[in-house]
Amino acid sequence: MKKLAFCAISCCMLAACNNAASHKAADKPDILAADLDTTVSPGEDFFQYANGGWIKRTTIPAAESGWGIGNMVEEDIQLRLKKINEDAVKEKAADGSTTQKIADFWKSGMDSANIDKAKLSPLKPDFDAIDAITNTDQLIAVVASFHRKSIGGFFGDYVGQDDKQSDKMAFFISQGGLGLPNRDYYFNTDERTVKIKAAYKDYMNKTFRQLDTASAAKNTEAVLNLETKLAKSSRKLADLRDPYKNYNKMSWTELAKKAPNVNWTEYAKLTGANKVDSVIVGQPEFLVTLSNEVKATPIDTWKSYLKLRLIQSSASELDQTTFNNYFEYRKTLTGATEPRPRWKRVLSSEEDAIGEALGQLFVKEYFSETAKKRYNDIVENIRAAYKERIAKLSWMSDSTKQKAFEKLAKITKKVGYPDKWKDFSSLKIDDGPWILNVQRANEWWHNYEINKLGKPVDRTEWTMTPQTYNAYYNPSNNEIVMPAGIFAVPGYKDDELDDALVYGYAAASTIGHEITHGFDDQGRQYDDAGNLKNWWTKKDEDEFSKRASFIIKQFNEFNPVDTLHINGDATQGENIADLGGMLLGLDAFKKTDAFKKNDKIAGLTQLQRYFLGYALGWLYTVKKERLANLVMTDVHSPAKERVNGPVVNIPEFYEAFGIKKGDKMYRADSLRVNIW
Ligand SMILES: [Zn+2]
Repeated sequence: MKKLAFCAISCCMLAACNNAASHKAADKPDILAADLDTTVSPGEDFFQYANGGWIKRTTIPAAESGWGIGNMVEEDIQLRLKKINEDAVKEKAADGSTTQKIADFWKSGMDSANIDKAKLSPLKPDFDAIDAITNTDQLIAVVASFHRKSIGGFFGDYVGQDDKQSDKMAFFISQGGLGLPNRDYYFNTDERTVKIKAAYKDYMNKTFRQLDTASAAKNTEAVLNLETKLAKSSRKLADLRDPYKNYNKMSWTELAKKAPNVNWTEYAKLTGANKVDSVIVGQPEFLVTLSNEVKATPIDTWKSYLKLRLIQSSASELDQTTFNNYFEYRKTLTGATEPRPRWKRVLSSEEDAIGEALGQLFVKEYFSETAKKRYNDIVENIRAAYKERIAKLSWMSDSTKQKAFEKLAKITKKVGYPDKWKDFSSLKIDDGPWILNVQRANEWWHNYEINKLGKPVDRTEWTMTPQTYNAYYNPSNNEIVMPAGIFAVPGYKDDELDDALVYGYAAASTIGHEITHGFDDQGRQYDDAGNLKNWWTKKDEDEFSKRASFIIKQFNEFNPVDTLHINGDATQGENIADLGGMLLGLDAFKKTDAFKKNDKIAGLTQLQRYFLGYALGWLYTVKKERLANLVMTDVHSPAKERVNGPVVNIPEFYEAFGIKKGDKMYRADSLRVNIW
């Protein structure tokens, strides 16, 4: 997801669509009516009205930072995957088979006795490599070997499509290497952030004490000081949105001139990135600072820094003490008071390692061709609705409209699961230690990615597993990707869900949302072939920005927790996609028989059910710690604002719930956002 993470991922919901009228089972309550909080009026707080009944009767589990419809779907999926793993263990399959790999990965992760006994010893070769460093070239060589195994530090790198030449694969280098979630955690002075930084410092100290008691305090100070310098040269979340400013293509030689104290030739050779002669640098000023520090900071501090990165990135797969140290710090970020059960941690690690192997078994049992067809049809209804909307826009010129039509028509859809599966036959998995399975899998992935350099782009590839509860738009392929996991609805079958609910819940919050990403502040800068290339007239571009500034302002005003406000600038792409998705879902819904007949279900009109169906997609209650963490690091707004934000711009919302001037949710016409 690396590359997509900053622009694309939406967490959405659900349900395969049902074209027929509702077949609500008589013995089940209406899911929308059951979640209402009728003590709050929709005009006061629509999110609370829609979801408050459920929120009041829900307690967030101690091991979780929040709980919502996504968690309930995931819980279902996890139990299915657990069974697939347990069955694999029973099967005693032939060595080297996919089933053997699934079984052994599971066994190695569940073997807590041996994991605890081994302590840090599985990492001995890595510690030895760090201890042997005597100069900066050796330092970079170890960083390269760590990056091959996905152990972070120094900077981030990945292989992806060149933004300006989408038919070429490129090597990217970005800012990175911090222990805290992002640069703001080093500098913000609010009470919560200060507490988190203190917990991180405590974590560093405990970790260094595991290695050597006497030098722990000194190492903590030195490494924190170093990280703070790197943080200072890191860009803020909103400054990472401009695809041009974060695209700086240069040859390895030019990079070596800019950041001379890192031996880039050696780095490229050891990682395999020398298959290409150029590199796309996200944030050059960060690499300049890093290079200066490679020279200015004592090598022993760098060695301590690498040991910390090694332990921090492996904490989940190591012994109880190492894991607990890390978990104590994580608590301040998530609010979870106890760890997730071991089997869920193993599953999540297995997902990263061989998720597609699990996915292949998952879809065989749990995803039908009928569901695939239903979902494909809704995509086309949304596409048609978007076309009509663009045609009617008063602010866009005909020439830009023509280009928009072309881009819309060319959006590829991927539904359910890939046609072709990844082949893990060259990956060795055995029954332990767990961390070494993870390292080998990471190295397999590194080679898989690096081998794409210099070869034609495979546009059929998926970057999410089929069992993932999520979806994405990838600008370089101009495609929307919807894994099978997003179809699951806990407790209800597809044919128990009426069209109004499905159009709010799936058509708006997933399909319409992802398609709109092709035309948000970032997506609109890519053309129909997936290239970063301007296809807008200057006047249309100015109009778009003017209209986007309304949504930035609207979200800047939200204050979800403590003194923290939503960052309207950083979240604008997601907020535009949410609003676009709701409008498109509504247009498409208005063409259905259900809307035209306008029967009430459980006392709710069709229009009301559409908006409540959308809100169901964001059914969520969250701990304050996690909420603050999301506001600081996530380009999505929190669930509540993802509902209350877009609806105030839609006339049908006012109509559906009788919202009037004087109501808290009311916005005057002049303040409403009007983009797509
Ligand atoms: Zn999104």
